[in-house]
Amino acid sequence: MHPSTKTPLSEDLKRLVGQPVAAIDTPSLVIDLDAMQRNLSRMAEFARKHDIRWRPHAKMHKSAAIARLQQQAGATGVCVQKTSEAEAMAAGGVLDIYISNEVVAPAKLARVADLAHRLAGEGGQLAIAVDSAEGVRRLADAMNDRRRGGPAAVIDVFVEIDVGQGRCGVRPGRAAVELAHEIRKHPALRFAGLQAYHGKAQHLRSPQARREAIATVLQDVQFTRKLMEQDGLQVPLVTGAGTGTMLYEAASGVYGELQAGSFLFMDADYAANERDAAQPQFEHALFVKSQVMSSGLLHAVCDAGHKSHAIDSGLPRVLALEPTGELDYLNGGDEHGILKPAGGNQRVPHLDDTVWLIPGHCDPTVNLHQHMIGVTGGLEKGRVDKIIRVDARGALT
Ligand code: PLP
Ligand code: MN
Repeated sequence: MHPSTKTPLSEDLKRLVGQPVAAIDTPSLVIDLDAMQRNLSRMAEFARKHDIRWRPHAKMHKSAAIARLQQQAGATGVCVQKTSEAEAMAAGGVLDIYISNEVVAPAKLARVADLAHRLAGEGGQLAIAVDSAEGVRRLADAMNDRRRGGPAAVIDVFVEIDVGQGRCGVRPGRAAVELAHEIRKHPALRFAGLQAYHGKAQHLRSPQARREAIATVLQDVQFTRKLMEQDGLQVPLVTGAGTGTMLYEAASGVYGELQAGSFLFMDADYAANERDAAQPQFEHALFVKSQVMSSGLLHAVCDAGHKSHAIDSGLPRVLALEPTGELDYLNGGDEHGILKPAGGNQRVPHLDDTVWLIPGHCDPTVNLHQHMIGVTGGLEKGRVDKIIRVDARGALT
């Protein structure tokens, strides 16, 4: 079990439940639960309309409670990126887990095999991606070691193809076919299909650029699938897609499962994408609540810097609310944010003013926090409804 799942919530945090939003200390990570629920419903509706499964990426929220909520709304299970994330999800009661990533260290593979058996014992299923024959053999060794003497579990294995990101994955075509054959040599492994995710396409700003990028991906996938079928290999499932492009994978008839994660919280980087009219309109649900602690003639300073939010995809945007109005956020370092009136606004924020920051990138922002504070009834007048633990915080192994 990942240690953070065992850490009890402090009494202060427990007491916060039921309190007005004003009682939330700063800086804190806050979820607008009503907005999150609407995003969840939009995604469930989208998947139903396209008759496609969705397996949202839990590397985004790292919370077993949120993963279970998504399953209740119709999600098949979760994707994770790391073995320890998978362990944290399992500890929180999520039984259908896909590690959409390569794992090659024997010590980690022993944990993967152990988890595969534990999940199978509870009626669940573990899956993993591979992109090397060596990786397949090591996975098989680990599964066989774990199988000795007990009931045998089977792990689902996806062959990852590089469809344009230039990250993991074998080249589409023959190399993928060879790898699928390698998987089929091992009774503890089941060839589950293709992992085909194009990360770089997600934030292409225009819908046309994203659609064109995925059109190329679809050619790679179909070409690979055809070669496999010619070799007598059925491809049970093609899985991939993020929030930026899922519309095109969903409409393709080629993908059977969507892995989008960020749709649930929607960060500032995703909001900067020009939306395709057919894409659900997701709204911001994740905020850093921050307080103004210094105010001068031309600018003010709030208490949230890049220890409160990730800045790899740009600085946060400030939600324009009364009385602060429209503000620009400038980098003030790890613990400070510099606020300047913007868009015709003349008012420099006052001491004690609350500002709500929309993080540039949700995944690494969540990973900076122990818990998220769930609010209902809106950010201004709402109340704290629940505290959501970031179970897989720092789960990097
Ligand atoms: N699938 C994989 C393999 C990913 O790496 C990611 C994110 O980087 C996603 C799905 C989810 O994408 P997003 O959170 O942008 O929707
Ligand atoms: Mn991301």
